[in-house]
Amino acid sequence: MSHEGLRIASKDEQARDDQASEPLPRIATTPEKVRVLMTEGKGLEIDWADGHKSAWGFAWLREACPCANCVDERAQQGRKTGQPKPKPAAVLPMYTPPPKPASAHAVGRYAIQFNWADGHSAGIYSWEFLRRVCQCRECTFVATDTTGTPN
Ligand SMILES: [Zn+2]
Ligand SMILES: [Zn+2]
Repeated sequence: MSHEGLRIASKDEQARDDQASEPLPRIATTPEKVRVLMTEGKGLEIDWADGHKSAWGFAWLREACPCANCVDERAQQGRKTGQPKPKPAAVLPMYTPPPKPASAHAVGRYAIQFNWADGHSAGIYSWEFLRRVCQCRECTFVATDTTGTPN
């Protein structure tokens, strides 16, 4: 039995992945302060050890759930991390409460987990993941800049 072809393909894949996501310095993925603004219903704020500050709304975080099911679903629908599902046009408008976690807790020292009010809780948001999806102007500017789509 030969897995020669398979092995070469996965090596290429690996190389591409490595290039796409260079490891972040530890200081950039170490949170100094983590605030979950539950009562305000606002979202999550993190002050990083390197001085950077990030904030995400709960709705965005729910749509950015990093669990395998949600990642697959987004890939199938061509949605980006944090991008909401397109609203079905034919359906009568129905009030859906904005996504909010019922609770949140730390996972070891590397991540935070939300128990969403809709019952979903499979996503583990690692500090590294969160830092990579920082929504601040500085980070999103860099991100849109590299895709090379001028307005
Ligand atoms: Zn999920
Ligand atoms: Zn940022």
